[in-house]
Amino acid sequence: MEQSVKSFLLPWNLWIILRRRYWVCRCMIQISLRASYNAGMSSNRAEPMIVKYFSRAGLMLTDGCTAACASCYLSGRAGKGRWMDADMAVGIWAGLANLSPHGCKVHVTGGEPFIDWEKLIEILRAAAGEGLQAESVETNGFWATGDNIIRDRLRALEAAGMGRLAISADPFHQEFVPIGRVRRLAEVAREVLGPDRVRVRWEDWLEQGRDVQAMSFAQRDDLFAEWIATGRDRLNGRAAEMLAGFLPPKPPEAFAGQTCREAILRSRHVHVGSDGTVMPGVCAGLSIGRVTVPWEESVRGLWCALRENFSRRPILSRLIETGPTAILQLAHELGLSVPWEGKGFASKCHLCWAARFALAATGNYADELAPRDYYQPY
Ligand code: SF4
Repeated sequence: MEQSVKSFLLPWNLWIILRRRYWVCRCMIQISLRASYNAGMSSNRAEPMIVKYFSRAGLMLTDGCTAACASCYLSGRAGKGRWMDADMAVGIWAGLANLSPHGCKVHVTGGEPFIDWEKLIEILRAAAGEGLQAESVETNGFWATGDNIIRDRLRALEAAGMGRLAISADPFHQEFVPIGRVRRLAEVAREVLGPDRVRVRWEDWLEQGRDVQAMSFAQRDDLFAEWIATGRDRLNGRAAEMLAGFLPPKPPEAFAGQTCREAILRSRHVHVGSDGTVMPGVCAGLSIGRVTVPWEESVRGLWCALRENFSRRPILSRLIETGPTAILQLAHELGLSVPWEGKGFASKCHLCWAARFALAATGNYADELAPRDYYQPY
């Protein structure tokens, strides 16, 4: 008996020693990488960084969704969609966390990440095993069909290190998810997690909102027009296609001189698509690079490459130096027809989306206009 306990303990102790050594080595490598990287950053510490570190990132585990909201600037698609596997998600997450000396707050999103609960929780547990915890997990609440499932899933998410639950609620989401269900999710989540760990976007809508599913098309359009005029939505991707018509159109000249340097190089916020495409926070379908294996190193490589060569990339450089009127000009030089051009554009990003849509249709610029399926009709 004693012998069998010893033979069990020996490999267990060995495993613990090896695991500790692994973490010590990993920490030393990270410290040394950061030191050498920072040393190479700038000889003059007062010099501003041309490209900011990514300090907030949305990890889009899937592009699949239970809904197809008109406001979805990230163009989530109906169905289970393309998923990151756990290795990819955790590798990219670690790469984001280790890129900056200040770390990176990661929110887990989609599409709708609860569309495959087992995959979602597997990824969060794998990340937690590597010391990575989600700042928040976003959902449209479609799955909140009863108090038991809500409580069970929230407890599992909490055990996997989730900081906050972020619930999407607005007239567009409520075309697909009953508002009563979302209200119950918010109530139960506040009981389980505490009020500070539940964020609803938008709280005023959840309190006063109406049952969009019971409205006629005309009533729904009136509501959309009223809502979109508040300026809370980003007119990019599908949102640009479906909602721009609710706003007064302007000619392209109205956006002259509005450059995108801050949005692309200095916003610190990125989204990572389920295929590894990294996009500036609000610029859906505009790629600053694609993360590949080895995931962790690739994140750093992508950031460094952006810093070194953004001025040589045909789409990014035009947007950074001049703004979307420059890519509209490029589309004209190529003889392309740009959607919405006869009608006018609702915003700078709407103009950008329309010009990029025309350029993507040529089959060129695949490195910068990605993920490519963002440019497919819905
Ligand atoms: S105009 Fe284009 S590049 Fe500029 S912020 Fe909007 S989507 Fe991003």
